[in-house]
Order: sequence, then C-alpha cells, then structure tokens
Amino acid sequence: MGVVAVAVIVSGCGSEPVTQAKDAKADTAAKQQQSTAARMKAAAAVKANELGQVPVLMYHRIVDKPQTTDDRTPKQFRTELERLAKEDYVPITAAEFVTGKIDIPAGKHPVVLTFDDSSPSQLTLDEMGTPKANTAVAIMREVAARHSGFRPVGTFYITRDMFGKHVREEQAQTLLWLKSNGFDLGNHTRDHHNLRTRTHAQVEEQIGSIGKQINELAAVKPVTIALPYGVQPRKKEWAARGKSYHHQGVFLAGYTPSASPFSKSYDPLGIPRIRAMDKKGDCAQFCSTAWLDWLKANPDMRYTSDGDPSTIAYPKFKHPFLRVSYKAKALAY
Ligand SMILES: [Zn+2]
Repeated sequence: MGVVAVAVIVSGCGSEPVTQAKDAKADTAAKQQQSTAARMKAAAAVKANELGQVPVLMYHRIVDKPQTTDDRTPKQFRTELERLAKEDYVPITAAEFVTGKIDIPAGKHPVVLTFDDSSPSQLTLDEMGTPKANTAVAIMREVAARHSGFRPVGTFYITRDMFGKHVREEQAQTLLWLKSNGFDLGNHTRDHHNLRTRTHAQVEEQIGSIGKQINELAAVKPVTIALPYGVQPRKKEWAARGKSYHHQGVFLAGYTPSASPFSKSYDPLGIPRIRAMDKKGDCAQFCSTAWLDWLKANPDMRYTSDGDPSTIAYPKFKHPFLRVSYKAKALAY
C-alpha cells in the first residue's frame, strides 16, 4: 500500500505532487476499507468467533484394559478422534494455542490434544522408527489419513518416565521422533509430585530438571507445562517462570473448555483441560463426551476460525472481551 503512494509522488512530474499523494492515500484507504469489508463479510459467512471457547482434551494411557478412570482403550480414543474430525475440529498444539498461532481453515474449530505422563501406550517405535499399532500416535495418524485436514498433532507432557525408555539414546530417539513429526513436547515435572506442598526451590528443581533433560535430548525448550494432578504450587507464577524455564501457558486438569487465548477471560497461568471420558458418573457433565455435546449444541460459545491467522475475527458484540494486546489484529464484524 505504501508502494502505491510513493509511485504516485515519483511520477507526479512536479504538477501537484502533494495533492496527488493525498489522492493516492485516499485511494489506498478506500482499498483497505474494501478489503476489510470483504474480510468481515467472509468472517460473518462462516460465523467466525475467535473469542470463543476451545476444548483442550487430556489423555493418559491408551490401553486395551483400562485400569484407572484416566485410561482409554484404542477403540475409545479412535472413536473420539473420528468424532472431532466429523465435527470440523482441527488439532493444534498447546504451544500454538498459548502463542495464538491458530492457523486452521475458515469455519473450523481448534482442539488441543494433550497426553500426560509420557507412557509407552502413547508412543512406542519399532526399530525402523515406525509407531506401533494402537499407540496414541499411530491412531492419530490413522484418523488423519482418513480425514484430510485433520492434523495429527498434539502435546506430550513428559516426566522422567520418558515413554518407558531408560537408555539415554532411546529416550532421545523417541523425543526426536516426536519433534520431527510435528508434535509438541511439554513439561510435566520430573517426579510427578503434588507441587502444593513443595518449597519454591523444590518446585524449580522438579520443573527445571526435566526441562533441562528434554532440551539436552531433543533441543526443545517446552513452551507449556501441565501440572501434576492439575495442582498449582503455592504461588502459581512458580510454574511459569524459574531460573531455567519460561512457560507461556500452565495447564490444569479440569473441568471446562478453555477461553480463547485472545479473550480477557483467558488466564495463561491456569488453563483448564477436559478429561477424556464418556458421559457417566462424575463425567456426566464435565468430561469430553459431555463437553463436545455441549459445544455442538451451543455453537455461539465455540471458537470458529475465519481462516486468516493475521486477524482475530468475532461478532462486534463480543468486542469488550478482546485482550488489549491483540487490538491491532481485531476484525469485529
Ligand atoms: Zn500426570
């Protein structure tokens, strides 16, 4: 746009360059208005709502015989991913979510898939570096192959268990495989203690030591952390910042969809997640099946993309909730 104005001044031949430059400026402004109008129209057409809520799903082990209420079978996990694909969700990583890099097509909804405790049921590789059947990663890739546009990405929250690998080189193989295949590595503390009862120094040691190990093995500094049991330390800032780490998002364990990272309702130090489970018992309302039903029944509450990562599009009515730091990207229609 600046280029147009300059060209006019240069070719102005001294006749009335200032006026011509002004005309060019007015012309540019008119064009910009037109393109904003076109963007607003496109955003309205798909009912874009980038201040809406995002489900962050929390998985643990994917095993044939569930032993705890956190375990899911491969079949249950596959069924949930199929549902997400059919209902126009596109997975993004936790790092993408907290940094506001939500680059998905118009009309689609972001979902963040998170996996805690780095268990072998999430990823085990054979000697050729291929994920074994029925691991979480293999199932994500299967579903993505069946549904174009469904990105096989997610965030793995790592403890010292390291997918059951004890040899340093094997730990490196697993983490490097995840990194090179577009998966995100997050911090889940070294020993999975309840941080509430720990001193500041202990909290820093629990988080810093595993962060250092992940960085040494895979040259990745985790962007986010998931707190063991979803329990915050005495000062919640301790989980975000320490001498050797700086997390841009701290994830909890329950019980609602998250606010959009562009909304004033969003708190990067306490981002809620949703346990993956059917509608039964204490999951009748607050786990994944129930929340996905609710988001489907309440589409005005849900984050819907306008397909343009350079703007944050939403109905004008929601404007008071836009976080001030994102004002320059706002597209209120
Ligand atoms: Zn855990």
